[in-house]
Amino acid sequence: MTDLFNALGIADDATGGSLSVRSPIDGAEIGRVRTTDPAAMEGMILRAQEAFRVWREVPAPRRGELVRLLGEELRAAKADLGALVTLEAGKITSEGLGEVQEMIDICDFAVGLSRQLYGLTIASERPGHRMMETWHPMGPCAVISAFNFPVAVWSWNAALALVCGNPVIWKPSEKTPLTAIASMKILGRALARFGDAPEGLVQLAIGGPEIGETLVASSAIPIVSATGSTRMGRIVGPRVAARFGRPILELGGNNAMIVAPSADLDMAVRAIVFSAVGTAGQRCTSLRRLIVHHSVRDELVGRLVKAYGSLRIGDPRAEGTLVGPLIDTASRDRMVAALDRARAEGGTVHGGQVVEGVPGGAYIQPALVEMPAQTGVVCEETFAPILYIMGYETLDEAIALQNAVPQGLSSCIFTLNLREAEAFVSAAGSDCGIANVNIGPSGAEIGGAFGGEKETGGGRESGSDAWRGYMRRQTNTINWSSALPLAQGVRFDI
Ligand code: NAD
Repeated sequence: MTDLFNALGIADDATGGSLSVRSPIDGAEIGRVRTTDPAAMEGMILRAQEAFRVWREVPAPRRGELVRLLGEELRAAKADLGALVTLEAGKITSEGLGEVQEMIDICDFAVGLSRQLYGLTIASERPGHRMMETWHPMGPCAVISAFNFPVAVWSWNAALALVCGNPVIWKPSEKTPLTAIASMKILGRALARFGDAPEGLVQLAIGGPEIGETLVASSAIPIVSATGSTRMGRIVGPRVAARFGRPILELGGNNAMIVAPSADLDMAVRAIVFSAVGTAGQRCTSLRRLIVHHSVRDELVGRLVKAYGSLRIGDPRAEGTLVGPLIDTASRDRMVAALDRARAEGGTVHGGQVVEGVPGGAYIQPALVEMPAQTGVVCEETFAPILYIMGYETLDEAIALQNAVPQGLSSCIFTLNLREAEAFVSAAGSDCGIANVNIGPSGAEIGGAFGGEKETGGGRESGSDAWRGYMRRQTNTINWSSALPLAQGVRFDI
């Protein structure tokens, strides 16, 4: 651990503070981090505003150069930062590395984007006039992030915000401050190579909800991108909206897969196991509900019970481990309570036993739960590896079940029937922000816009045109004639 902290330059930051950081691997304290004084937040916000005045005038391709350098520094630090993600968030090694790769990918994407922040030209009804749209930087962007993607979510937001001309203030999860500090050190190297970025362009605020709340309340911060539970979004969303700020909300999911009679079950089993137990079920896009056609239900459940029985659960750093710990024992207790509730609501549970992976860590067998119906517990997001299984007879019934939960993040269907596949992604199909065919609901690529509807919050981040959420649109009408005609034929002669 000491070597890792030294390699990432965070050894000094990991001692002497009041915030105790524990590794989910064994529950041991790995650091004591200094939190940000709430009284210091005002100064931080002022520095971000000053940085904005400079950064908004730096040409976007030059801003992209900073993000390009960040991508280079992340490549160099990938192994170390990935190992720290594993230590602090408990992800298995390849998922820790994958998270850093996602940061690199979004940097590459944002560099290209820095030359493509373009708007439309629009035909004017008036002679000698031209209309166009210009996209301008918006102002400081607060990024509030969750523990389960402790660094990638920041990079999705920061890479875009920076090329769009906005400074960033990052409030990471209080459970994962070390990976945030390490990311800032990596960014610091990119900033040093870049040379003339304004001070305060990217700042880190460490602490709990009270620190996040100062960002949420400040009208000097036009964009608040908040990732976390729906509970948090219910507080943050209305507060930002009340001051006419722009919230980008990425909240809880309750993602489903429909398995149709024609599905390739070999592929479905692999997709289900990865989506439901990967990251120990702690992805916003984790598979939580399986809606299986009655004709293939018994076979599929049998194969899943077998596959679940062979999962290696334990130290996420060990070769061959597929399921690491939950973030903490409270999270494990919530899973146990949800399984009890599922039983009380008529469910039959396979797995779900607490296991001694590494003493001190919160290890538990992923659970498959056969449900008689989509009961109350199934409609809630329990952030743990529980997969509820329900049957269906007609596709309409399956789609109705899939959509009958309050969340709307990710969804998928496994079918070889073109009509079913197209129906699922049609206007009358899945109501989620992500709808896949023959791919699980998790593990999205950065090229697409990421986010979901309903209680997932409606925000979009990452690829496609999500960058527009970080800029303000200006409509320009240019009159290059010598007359002054009014639109809609209005006459106003003086
Ligand atoms: P959480 O809601 O407990 O905390 C998330 C962040 O919000 C933390 O930084 C926390 O300090 C902050 N926060 C909490 N209350 C706040 C308040 N009143 N004001 C300002 N900030 C506040 O979530 P968590 O347990 O860290 O993460 C798990 C949740 O995040 C799950 O529900 C998961 O689905 C969701 N998630 C969603 C996405 C997505 O893209 N949709 C991605 C990752 C995680």
